Amino acid sequence: MDRLLSQLPNMNELIGHAIFDGIGRERVKKAAREVLAELREGILSGNNDKLPSLDECARLTLDRIKSDVQSLRGLINATGVVLHTNLGRAPLGMDMLTTAAEVCAGYCNLEFDIETGSRGSRYSHIEPLVCELTGAEAALVVNNNAAAMVLILGALAAGKKVAVSRGEMVEIGGALRIPEIIVQSGAELIEVGSTNKTRISDYIDAVENKGAEMLLKVHTSNYEIVGFTESVSASELAEYGSSAGLPVIYDMGSCFLVDQEQYGFRAGEKARSGVVEGADVICFSGDKLMGSVQCGVIAGRAEYVNIMKKHPLTRALRPDKLTLSVLESALRLYRYPDEAVNRIPVLAMLFADPADLENRAQALAAHLKEALQGWSVEVCQTMDEAGGGSLPNVRLPGWAVAIRPSNMSANELETALRLGSPPVITRIQDDAALFSPRTLLATDEDSLVEALRYVKTANDKE
Ligand SMILES: *Cc1c(COP(=O)(O)O)cnc(C)c1O
Repeated sequence: MDRLLSQLPNMNELIGHAIFDGIGRERVKKAAREVLAELREGILSGNNDKLPSLDECARLTLDRIKSDVQSLRGLINATGVVLHTNLGRAPLGMDMLTTAAEVCAGYCNLEFDIETGSRGSRYSHIEPLVCELTGAEAALVVNNNAAAMVLILGALAAGKKVAVSRGEMVEIGGALRIPEIIVQSGAELIEVGSTNKTRISDYIDAVENKGAEMLLKVHTSNYEIVGFTESVSASELAEYGSSAGLPVIYDMGSCFLVDQEQYGFRAGEKARSGVVEGADVICFSGDKLMGSVQCGVIAGRAEYVNIMKKHPLTRALRPDKLTLSVLESALRLYRYPDEAVNRIPVLAMLFADPADLENRAQALAAHLKEALQGWSVEVCQTMDEAGGGSLPNVRLPGWAVAIRPSNMSANELETALRLGSPPVITRIQDDAALFSPRTLLATDEDSLVEALRYVKTANDKE
């Protein structure tokens, strides 16, 4: 044992190895220290009776340095679920990111008016664009749509009675409940209608007999009430609100800022365009159907938005320059819908023509058949999803490549791909692992073929 211990490579000798050329000394030292400590422990516990050579120790150290990767990293989403909340919702694509990288790498005019040399507003970069695209008079952006609801209610509803349909008491993502935000903001909730049916007469009753002073509509983004149902549309509610002189707030959850039907997207959903639909204030997420960065966009009548701009919560919820520059790029793309639908990945994925998806699945299958000889590789039809609490009732007809390995289960394949680099996320159906071209970015397909080839080769050797 002592003899082995005395043969352990010397620290200086190890970190001086040529393999570490170009890597910072502290980084090499830390990894080398860990590798040597493990070897020493192995010897002392009697598990190591043979020492690796100096070269092998250097290789072990290099592996350790390489394993120190970012925890938050890219992966391949082959699930066909476009807005996957666990997978970062909207992929941004390079168009939105390149400008942000240029703006944020150095200083920028975040709150600086270049013309006058005086202080500016961070919202000035996006407000005119949001107004142009939604038809609103004024706009504001906060960190996400949940924050938008907190701010809207905190600034406008405190001390007021707010009417909400019982069918729209939404809980979003586990911890955020609309009724709780209302109470927290110092407002009083007036429940309207029943779970499955709410009519305009119910709102009128809430106003005339229960003292409601504000009307709130919430999109039921992550569930659908089916069967005998009735609800009041945003525009119908807005019309009543305006005749009664009461503000109408509409939490849209998410919305398309292009006319989705023009691009062949007729997936059942009542069209929710970014147009204000008569509501006094609307809000929606930046990273759902809009396909941009996480943020909450608030738009509406200037008299209300200006109150929010001055509210102390706004400072606490304000987005940073990275968010604002990505969002501005997205909004600029939206001014030209024909460009937006091609260059905003979420739109390209949602509006993809099934015939194109079939062609892409066929091309991918051809590559995979060559790379994975002996495994079953077939093209099949699928139902993809918008996901991310955006369009709960919508299934998108799509195509996928179905792989059934010959010497491992589909579940084992799923695990091996997930643990690979880059990780590949698939779904399992009928004992096959499915790979949907809809959610693959252009650069993903080659990496996907390589990842599968790697798993198969490793498995064939066992
Ligand atoms: C998703 C959603 C929210 C929360 O939006 P985030 O941007 O995730 O904070 C709020 N309201 C509705 C109706 C939603 O669909």
